Amino acid sequence: MTYNINNKGYYGEFGGAYIPEMLYPNVEELRQNYLKIMAEPSFKQEFDQLLKDYVGRPSPLYFAKRLSEKYNTKIYLKREDLNHTGAHKVNNTIGQILMAQRLGKTRIIAETGAGQHGVATATVCALMGLKCIVYMGEIDIARQAPNVARMKMLGAEVRPALSGSRTLKDATNEAIRDWINNPVDTHYIIGSVVGPHPYPDMVARFQAVVSKEIQWQLKDKENTTKPDYVIACVGGGSNAAGAFYHYLEDTSVNLIAVEAAGKGVNSGESAATSALGREGIIHGSKTLLMQTNDGQITEPYSISAGLDYPGVGPMHAHLFKSGRAEFISITDDEAMIAGLELSQLEGIIPAIESSHALAIFDQKQFKPNDIVVINLSGRGDKDLKNYIDYFKL
Ligand SMILES: *Cc1c(COP(=O)(O)O)cnc(C)c1O
Repeated sequence: MTYNINNKGYYGEFGGAYIPEMLYPNVEELRQNYLKIMAEPSFKQEFDQLLKDYVGRPSPLYFAKRLSEKYNTKIYLKREDLNHTGAHKVNNTIGQILMAQRLGKTRIIAETGAGQHGVATATVCALMGLKCIVYMGEIDIARQAPNVARMKMLGAEVRPALSGSRTLKDATNEAIRDWINNPVDTHYIIGSVVGPHPYPDMVARFQAVVSKEIQWQLKDKENTTKPDYVIACVGGGSNAAGAFYHYLEDTSVNLIAVEAAGKGVNSGESAATSALGREGIIHGSKTLLMQTNDGQITEPYSISAGLDYPGVGPMHAHLFKSGRAEFISITDDEAMIAGLELSQLEGIIPAIESSHALAIFDQKQFKPNDIVVINLSGRGDKDLKNYIDYFKL
């Protein structure tokens, strides 16, 4: 059994590229070139340099002393919240903008729901001087005004998706339509380990810098490269894929994926894809997704906009189905309380997405000597209004 991708673009039975024929040339160009380009010394050099000087990597691996005392185990936080733009997403957009340049593309498109991926994409387009168009549902544009302003400030054009429910999936449809119409000069930057092959693998490889760093940072601190547990929240799955990547095949390292249960897994308002999902096709890949009996995608819900996705990347579908990773669902309330706790125990205000990963200690017991690494995917600045409303601060 392998937990990584095979040469056909599948993780176990999940993955592949289920796309309209008109999109085939674009995806095929990427598939034929991505590994070759990533292996070029000049690509690696530029990627590493930008991660260091622009993003601020390596991100610290921080021993959370007071949190560890409270839960009587050894907790390390991987500080992706300290990256430029405040989350892990920029690791991927840096990689993809370099990929786009090497493929000779001059125009970038992306879709965004909460706006975080739109901001990370607009950021690297400004960095490289490439034209940037971000599709966003009209409803999301109204809900996420600060991120819309950021994208505009960075020089991106934000185009509203006016059809359907006017949210993420409609923005995705618009982006795909654009790519079909502009196959030669345009690269589509997807923001998580989702979409048709090779996107899930390409994005996982760009995010893999996270587990690469955990290995040597842990070696310095604990004289081992291997934690007992790696824990990460899962929306589409990119921060988890990055934190798990170099441990996938080493089953002595336990992997825990944390999904958003919203108001409760069985409340009808949740985003707990593995618990509720069945096999189907979403955004060009075969995976687990929340759907009705006749195959209509169910609207997901979570207090955290970044976890509010009805599917999950094919790597995670395979990690779930094979049992390689344990999947835990955390409600809005549990996540919010864990976010407040981290703030007051460690002086770190986490993104609400990351707060889900921090909330597992009520469900999961660890031994005093266990080394537990939690991927702190992002900072909480963007969520302050949510925290204020929830706690009446
Ligand atoms: C977007 C986002 C997530 C969820 O996306 P993944 O692809 O599952 O990582 C998690 N945390 C933060 C801070 C985000 O911005």
